[in-house]
Amino acid sequence: MSVLVFAESPKGQLKKAAFEAVTYGHKVAQLLGTDCIALTLGSVEGAGVLGQYGASKVCNVANAALDSFDSQVHTAVIAESAQQLGADVVIMSHSSTGKSLVGRLAARMNAGSVAGVNAIPTNDGVFKVTKGVFSGKAIAEYQITSPVKVLSLMGNALPPQVVGADVSVETIEVAVPAGRITVKEVKTQDGIVPLPEAELVVSAGRGMKGPENWGIIEELATTLGATTACSRPVADADWRPHHEHVGQTGVAIRPNLYFAIGISGAIQHLAGVNNSKVIVVINKDPEAPFFKAADYGICADLFDVVPKLTESIKKFKAAN
Ligand SMILES: Cc1cc2nc3c(=O)[nH]c(=O)nc-3n(C[C@H](O)[C@H](O)[C@H](O)COP(=O)(O)OP(=O)(O)OC[C@H]3O[C@@H](n4cnc5c(N)ncnc54)[C@H](O)[C@@H]3O)c2cc1C
Repeated sequence: MSVLVFAESPKGQLKKAAFEAVTYGHKVAQLLGTDCIALTLGSVEGAGVLGQYGASKVCNVANAALDSFDSQVHTAVIAESAQQLGADVVIMSHSSTGKSLVGRLAARMNAGSVAGVNAIPTNDGVFKVTKGVFSGKAIAEYQITSPVKVLSLMGNALPPQVVGADVSVETIEVAVPAGRITVKEVKTQDGIVPLPEAELVVSAGRGMKGPENWGIIEELATTLGATTACSRPVADADWRPHHEHVGQTGVAIRPNLYFAIGISGAIQHLAGVNNSKVIVVINKDPEAPFFKAADYGICADLFDVVPKLTESIKKFKAAN
């Protein structure tokens, strides 16, 4: 019996989400009185670092076919690795990769599964996990009674925690089935923290009046080191790219700090952002619903406030 964590490594680099998943796996392993093993697939740089987050060992399936993602192939390899390593709990990030694996893997391993868990499980004879439901308005508790369990962990649900030191990486032999899809090209945004992993997010809505005004949002985001996001109508109107759209039908995020600028705070928008730890709203309408969900609110014209805010942050950073 052990806990196996699939540590994602796009382009051979481990992501923050992988450190979170291993931190989580380590805590689950402690709860169950067993070890946490990290699994990496394909060519991965410096995978031994996962030992720092609680992996007792790191196993790698070193096959170049695994460098690009194919949900069916990855599912088969992770399931076979779990069997070889005697794992009965398999954990991954609730990223787009994890979301496409969790159901397939559970079906293949005949496992009970919960996608998008948000807290450490409890185990008083029955293994229980929680996740946000109804667009984050309620928390549901699930009992998993099957011997094998598959979980995916929401981004930013718990911070990566250093508890140990690097460990050695062991190569394991697992048959890699031939994939049925061919990846011809991968386009990614370099140098930007993806929204699901971002700790700081600067988001703007229709109050911006048009795409030509986004310079002040980008400058604030760059000054803070934040990722930019937007409301749905803004993406629908092609003012901003669709991957920036947050909310019920967009990306669900839980950053430490969320700036909502010129966004009304419709329920469908809040559904994707109301798990943010601190919400700052800038809106000129004192009746804007977003103020009810805000930790801090500035009722003013954004075109006046945002440049002043950016300047103040720049001065603060220069002085500290
Ligand atoms: C099924 C369904 C799913 C949906 N999913 C999503 C989703 O995932 N995400 C999402 O965002 N929306 C979603 N929507 C749309 C949602 O209902 C709202 O229409 C949308 O969020 C509104 O976007 P907004 O706040 O940018 O624009 P508006 O509602 O037009 O609000 C603009 C705000 O800017 C303020 N403002 C204007 N000028 C200024 C200024 N100069 N200074 C300061 N403030 C200013 C206004 O007071 C206003 O509050 C969905 C809707 C449906 C029906």
